[in-house]
Amino acid sequence: RVKERGRANFRFYQRQMNVEMLSRMKMDHAMRLAMDNGLFRLHYQPQVSLSTGQVVGVEALIRWLDPDLGHVSPADFIPLAEDTGYIVTIGAWVLGEAVRQAAVWQRMGWPTAVSVNVSALQFQQGDFVERVAAVLESEGLAPALLELELTESILVKDAAEALARLEALAALGVTLSIDDFGTGYSSLAYLKKFPIHKLKIDRSFISGLPEDENDHAIVSAIIQLGRAMKLTIIAEGVETIPQRAMLQHLQCDQYQGYLCAPGMPADELERTIEAVREKAALSAA
Ligand code: C2E
Ligand code: MG
Ligand code: MG
Ligand code: MG
Repeated sequence: RVKERGRANFRFYQRQMNVEMLSRMKMDHAMRLAMDNGLFRLHYQPQVSLSTGQVVGVEALIRWLDPDLGHVSPADFIPLAEDTGYIVTIGAWVLGEAVRQAAVWQRMGWPTAVSVNVSALQFQQGDFVERVAAVLESEGLAPALLELELTESILVKDAAEALARLEALAALGVTLSIDDFGTGYSSLAYLKKFPIHKLKIDRSFISGLPEDENDHAIVSAIIQLGRAMKLTIIAEGVETIPQRAMLQHLQCDQYQGYLCAPGMPADELERTIEAVREKAALSAA
């Protein structure tokens, strides 16, 4: 009896696994079709100076509106793409598209730094630095207008290789930032070793502000560390005025979050920036 139940459970487990694999396969297939059919878009979310209120940069965020699946969140398909390796193809498209858009803004006389998320596998490609250099060159974008958002995991995998790659990118003039700072395997020693320019404080530490004392202590410590090491500090996921006021008080450099704006298409961003600029000018006057 026990044996029978075991067999039934096994069969059930196997079916569950097949369903899971099938849906991953389906998702993987849909992702490749989406790429071939040009269904991916980039949205851009403003990064705002806490001292001037002006937009100082934007983060490129991938969007996928599928005719069958609806909106598919990057939180759902990026991890799958990282598992299958397809992130290398997606990442190359994102980099090309973001740099192309930044070059358009540069030519319009609105030089805006664009941040691009880079996955570990993408960063580990042997020709990653050459690809970045080639895209900047072919689009004619000033390297200072490109920022690469890396995660702490990149720095622990092959430290020597990562160091060489980061130094080459820094030498190109590209800005290097650590995304979701504080959530990874952070050994703070890497801040000393690697040419990092900017830290993005993870949203999970911002959401408890201004009341949560632990979040306050963590955010305050990161900002002080960053200031002492001459790094730019940006807070992610700022949603409320009290959160922004606290970050200002703690002398954080920049913020990003729904309080200013969510990610949006390039043309919509241009109109939003105008509005933000006028508001900042008004409150400065
Ligand atoms: P991330 O790089 O940490 O991006 C920030 C995420 O927080 C974005 O979610 C953004 O829309 C969201 N966000 C911004 N402000 C707020 C806020 O005030 N409140 C809340 N609750 N959320 C806010 P999104 O676009 O869904 O992206 C999720 C993650 O997917 C990103 O986290 C990033 O890790 C990854 N991702 C997105 N685009 C790309 C890409 O082009 N390449 C790679 N490799 N990963 C990407
Ligand atoms: Mg990011
Ligand atoms: Mg982040
Ligand atoms: Mg985050």
